[in-house]
Amino acid sequence: MHTVKLDGQKIPIGKIVCIGRNYAEHIKELGNQMPDKPVIFIKPASSLVSSGGTVVIPGYSEDCHHEIELAVLIGKTAKDVTAEAALGYVSGYAVALDLTLRDVQGVQKEKGLPWEIAKAFDTACPLSAFVPADRVGDPQKLQIRLTVNHDVRQDGNTGDMMRSVAELIAAASAYFTLEAGDILLTGTPSGVGRIVSGDQLLAEIEQVGTLSVSVA
Ligand code: ZN
Repeated sequence: MHTVKLDGQKIPIGKIVCIGRNYAEHIKELGNQMPDKPVIFIKPASSLVSSGGTVVIPGYSEDCHHEIELAVLIGKTAKDVTAEAALGYVSGYAVALDLTLRDVQGVQKEKGLPWEIAKAFDTACPLSAFVPADRVGDPQKLQIRLTVNHDVRQDGNTGDMMRSVAELIAAASAYFTLEAGDILLTGTPSGVGRIVSGDQLLAEIEQVGTLSVSVA
């Protein structure tokens, strides 16, 4: 059983629902199309690694990318919820990295195959502790920033999301039931890039916290 911490309390977690292409500048930098519906994929709980941990890049990739993302913890069962009601299902926020084997993903995309081998490997989801939702103000007004070896790589604001946290929960809950302990990753701002062995990553989101991991 994998757990995360919410305000010091251990919470068993379920699926990690991830949103792709949710910041316009990031879509441009990868040359992707603007999606008319959210791009959704799932990482398994086995991909989690806590702050202070070590990322291991699989041997079948030469190009592992960092993607800093705001993580949302679902607090109660949500199915077909409206965007207006959606934030009522959120129990906490955290800082996450959606690590992506860009070379492997590129091949999968070209062949029209699923992305899991590029996105769901062990340690593909570094995650900080969660802070209770009521301690975070507006989730669409948070500075989001990643440094690698003290160099700023990503520096954005959750206000630049194309679909808000509330809209993403509503959209995801139309496809599958979100349960207490499920986590939603909300997409990455621009500036994604390669990480290599020995790198030190520090991810920070205003009011939410920090996440640090090193690369083996
Ligand atoms: Zn992502």
